[in-house]
Amino acid sequence: MNKSVAIDGPAGAGKSTLARRLAQRLGFLYVDTGAIYRTVGLYTLRNRLAPEEVVPMLEKLDIRMEYDSGGVQRMRLNGEDVSEAIRVHEVSQRASQVAALPEVRAFLLDFQRRQAREHSVVMDGRDIGTVVLPDADVKIFLTASPEVRAKRRLLELEQRGQPAQYEQILQDIQDRDRQDRNRAAAPLRQAEDAVRLDTSGLDLEQSLTQMLEIVSGRQNGRQEV
Ligand code: C5P
Repeated sequence: MNKSVAIDGPAGAGKSTLARRLAQRLGFLYVDTGAIYRTVGLYTLRNRLAPEEVVPMLEKLDIRMEYDSGGVQRMRLNGEDVSEAIRVHEVSQRASQVAALPEVRAFLLDFQRRQAREHSVVMDGRDIGTVVLPDADVKIFLTASPEVRAKRRLLELEQRGQPAQYEQILQDIQDRDRQDRNRAAAPLRQAEDAVRLDTSGLDLEQSLTQMLEIVSGRQNGRQEV
């Protein structure tokens, strides 16, 4: 029987790094669902489409998720590896816009659920615990203050050789939070049965320790995975 851990939270809360590390520790597959929305967003930017113009084209898009020999998730769009191309600033904003379209969300729902049917997963996103995997074995809502999240994102971009301005990143995070929380289709919110973890004052190792405790049921009396 496959197990699932759902991790949701706002941009820059540390979801992807922590979810990847947690998956390694548990021996589960890590599924980064934001990368799928980013891939759709990239398609619209490259083809000079307004976000909603992608809707009639969804069936024709060939979006694939693969894992390299090191277990790292890669995204392919119509055959091309776009794993790096989807990480730039314009694509973050555009991903958030296409993600607000109910047709896009409905189209990607089964794609995401299939991963959890076929593997034990740690899946991160915005609506994993509420919509994609409402029966997940463990749900964690990861959050941190906007300022802390902006600093982390800045560091991450610098490490990738993409220096950016703190003010711009903070603004970007606040805009995306607003858009993700206020959209009608699957808005970002904490599932009722999710454990909330604020990582503002925690480093990576401390956050991971807390997450492992949540998963093993040592916090909030949850079931052991
Ligand atoms: O997680 P990441 O920042 O890569 O996600 C990019 C955008 O995709 C988010 O701002 C959000 O709008 C959207 N998204 C979503 N639902 C998910 C994952 C991502 O709406 N499950």
